[in-house]
Amino acid sequence: MEVTELFGSNVFGDEVMKNSLPKEVYRSLRRTIDAGEPLDSNIASAVANAMKDWAVKKGATHYTHWFQPLTNLTAEKHDSFIEPDGDKVIMQLTGKSLIVGEPDASSFPSGGSRATSAARGYTAWDPTSPAFVKEGTLYIPTVFVSYTGETLDKKAPLLKSMTALDAQAKRLLKLFGIECNKVATTVGPEQEYFLIDEEEYLKRKDLILTGRTLFGAPPSRGQELEDHYFGVLKTRISDFMRDLDETLWKYGIFAKTKHNEVAPAQHELAPVFTTTNVAVDGNQLTMELMKKVAKRHGLVCLLHEKPFEGVNGSGKHNNWSLSTDTGLNLLDPGETPESNPRFMLVLACVIAAVDRYQGILRACVASAGNDHRLGANEAPPAILSVYLGDQLGALVDSIVNGREYVPKKAIPGSIGVPSSPIFPIDTTDRNRTSPFAFTGNKFEFRMLGSQASVADPNIVLNTIVAQLFSEAVDALAGVNDFGRACREFTENLLKKHYRIIFNYNGYGPDWEPEAVRRGLLNNKTTADAVPEFFKRENIDVFVRQGVYTEREVVARANIQLENYIKSINIEALTMAEMAKQDIYPAVNGYIAELCAVIENKRAVSEKLNTGADLRLAEKLSAMNEAFFEAVEKLESDLAEMPQGEGPASQKMAHVIVPDMDVVRALSDGMEKLCSSDYWPYPTYTDLLYSVK
Ligand code: ADP
Ligand code: MG
Repeated sequence: MEVTELFGSNVFGDEVMKNSLPKEVYRSLRRTIDAGEPLDSNIASAVANAMKDWAVKKGATHYTHWFQPLTNLTAEKHDSFIEPDGDKVIMQLTGKSLIVGEPDASSFPSGGSRATSAARGYTAWDPTSPAFVKEGTLYIPTVFVSYTGETLDKKAPLLKSMTALDAQAKRLLKLFGIECNKVATTVGPEQEYFLIDEEEYLKRKDLILTGRTLFGAPPSRGQELEDHYFGVLKTRISDFMRDLDETLWKYGIFAKTKHNEVAPAQHELAPVFTTTNVAVDGNQLTMELMKKVAKRHGLVCLLHEKPFEGVNGSGKHNNWSLSTDTGLNLLDPGETPESNPRFMLVLACVIAAVDRYQGILRACVASAGNDHRLGANEAPPAILSVYLGDQLGALVDSIVNGREYVPKKAIPGSIGVPSSPIFPIDTTDRNRTSPFAFTGNKFEFRMLGSQASVADPNIVLNTIVAQLFSEAVDALAGVNDFGRACREFTENLLKKHYRIIFNYNGYGPDWEPEAVRRGLLNNKTTADAVPEFFKRENIDVFVRQGVYTEREVVARANIQLENYIKSINIEALTMAEMAKQDIYPAVNGYIAELCAVIENKRAVSEKLNTGADLRLAEKLSAMNEAFFEAVEKLESDLAEMPQGEGPASQKMAHVIVPDMDVVRALSDGMEKLCSSDYWPYPTYTDLLYSVK
């Protein structure tokens, strides 16, 4: 099948809808999808029927309401289309089954916002994200809410945040005389991942149980040669990537770019951007399919943020912008941003939002896995800052400092090869170290962890920017001299929030003290970052924009802490188990062999050297002793966990994680000294260079 035919072939997309639905039904459904009009329940039966007929032709026998509970995963419960009809069966999907479902929801996290006894949760169809057929089942994207209307998933608040931003952006555009039906946020999430050989993977308890290696001495060859980045793809990897592309295309996911990343065995996939909630669904599906496709190739796809110590971890880049249905990108500066007050106001609002709400922007991407990136010497640091690039940076500097702005035009460049064309040099040069970078006509939020749902950061981004837009409109609506008022308002916002702008190296040693001087937050662990959600002004912004109730904010933050505590608990238990069952005995075994060697040598001849054997045995014996003690300390600290998410998460971050670091360092030291015949696990070299 050709790619053009393959693309979207598993999706109940526009073309299929148009061809299979009565005209009025189709138009009504489009109004819901495009302009956000409430769904007309009268059309549900017709849509359900068309969907079912199409799905059955694609081989589906079941349907599921597909939703995104407060884990980072998706959930599904399959029902068959089969209905009894006399002594036969018919295939049926009623309008009601399309619109609502009632999974038994008692085991999904709710952060105490829903008692188990009142466990009724409803899934409701989200017509703005297309249904699709996968492995014999029709997937219907849904939101998940409780009996009392509280949201229990990530999609409902995401849609609410999109609605809030749409409303405020339209108000703002009206000030400039621009009318449109809809302002949608667009997202293109770039996804990093590791691929390793399945056979090696299966020998590592830590990878199986926690998704990352808890032990492992650095390989002699790490990423220092930087030869993997954009390097030639190995055949097995390129086979995997082709299979993945084709698989994703079938589901209408615009997988566009693929390449090797910095670390050995690390890769990246970038899709073409689309409407936020479709992008979020697409990314969830992408992560799931990456794992499945990898398996077909005898590989395992690791989505953990830090599978390997000592080489780069994996993140996700959230490219974010907002555009009208008439095709205007609000973040497009045009040729002369200095004379584009609308763009400058939008820019100032985004900058102000990131500064004022930096705490929750950092907190929403916090997780046990991501703590290994943010705050360590890679990825962006845990401190939020905004990078504007040369052109906008200079413009904003001149506004804030009251200096004249001398535009820096994109200069036509040439790569110096006579036959190559002249091209304009990008005025927003890449700054890979910035957590929040302006890249031409969008912002790229780079703090996301690779396995996280893209929903959370976009909920926060949409909400905080909507808040700043609403404040701008409140201040500027009906003023006498709009031009002047707008300029002043923009200028004041930029001056007030200038501290968040940082156009230099975010990995450099100077940035941290400088950020502290500027009063920026630097919450390095999840335990320290998440409580930002409990602050009054941060709760208020969600409530004001109609995205969360106060209870929902608190419940979600608690779930995030709970997930953090559970993850580290699992890691610590796994570590202790591996240490006591495998590593300690293995080292003892090698020591015993060394002792036997010493005795044998002595028995044979006084002249045989035993000095090295003895020193090594003594050294390993001392290390193994210290190792065992460190494991005992970890276990006893773990046994005494304080009550409540706050204190427990603090103990995890500041006692358990450091305990684990000690255990690991001792083990990694012993690994380098121990005979490979005795070492119980594949080494980093085995894992990182396993795919030939
Ligand atoms: P590169 O960083 O390789 O030069 P781009 O900057 O074109 O590539 O795009 C990087 C990612 O940003 C892609 O996933 C792309 O789809 C996405 N992207 C581009 N434009 C927008 C936009 N207006 N809104 C959201 N995402 C976008
Ligand atoms: Mg990027």
